[in-house]
Amino acid sequence: ARQFTRPLNDLANQFNTLLSAIAGAERVFDILDEEKEINEFEANGVVPSLQGEVEFSNVSFSYDDGDDKQTIENVSFHASPGETIALVGPTGAGKTTLINLISRFYDANQGEIFIDRLPIGQLNRDELRKQMAFVLQDTFLFHGTVLENIRYGRLDATDEEVIEAAKLANAHFFIQKLPNQYKTIISYDGNGISHGQKQLLAIARAMLANPTILILDEATSSIDTITELRIQDALARLMKGRTTFVIAHRLNTIKKADQILVLKEGKIIEKGTHEELLQLKGFYSEMQHKN
Ligand code: ADP
Repeated sequence: ARQFTRPLNDLANQFNTLLSAIAGAERVFDILDEEKEINEFEANGVVPSLQGEVEFSNVSFSYDDGDDKQTIENVSFHASPGETIALVGPTGAGKTTLINLISRFYDANQGEIFIDRLPIGQLNRDELRKQMAFVLQDTFLFHGTVLENIRYGRLDATDEEVIEAAKLANAHFFIQKLPNQYKTIISYDGNGISHGQKQLLAIARAMLANPTILILDEATSSIDTITELRIQDALARLMKGRTTFVIAHRLNTIKKADQILVLKEGKIIEKGTHEELLQLKGFYSEMQHKN
């Protein structure tokens, strides 16, 4: 799971370094863009306000052009606006890579990805990502106040909006107990803030961003039960009405998903709801027995 967010983590590290140097926060993705990981063949037009329909049509991708083995191989699926899609499968199956393609960190080598029926290559990356939010296993925090760290989700948000988002994310209660509440300074590594609390801050950020498409990477590390319940409650609120892709580790999350995509070696080997997949008595059902 560590390697999951390789691009995102690199990005977060770069970002932390940069932020210590400059006060005014640029969006993370502006920094990423300088790496020019993908071809700039997109129109520079504005992305319309999206509904969040996502379709993959025979998509293949490999990180290394010279590789004959594809990291994602001939993947097709359709997600309707507001649906929750759980991605499951062994480590290295390509779950993260799929997410990287949806968020245009990379472009597919073959096949087409459509968002709201528009080929993703025609959507401006920055504009597209303004309509997406990420809640990942490792929340990156920068040196600044709690308020600033949440506001990072939408830089023009007012203090009131930040606090409202924190309340919706179940983060308000713990923030109020910090020495200087919302004005408390967080150091780089989020000293003094637990892993679970970092997740709540990430959820608050995402609430503020109000995205159409939400990307979740469920935490695998242990979080105390009460915080975990607060996270689940806040996530349910966040996911409502948004197309959500979740790299899921918890059975509870997977059971509630509208669709489960079971990935193995870059391919979707099974697709359906929890009940449907159990009935198949295939790979997914085997996985359940092992857990
Ligand atoms: P999962 O999220 O299911 O664990 P990943 O999508 O992270 O799987 O990885 C799929 C394959 O792609 C793995 O073999 C992994 O080593 C490789 N991979 C992942 N990210 C990169 C990258 N940035 N560059 C090259 N190879 C990568």
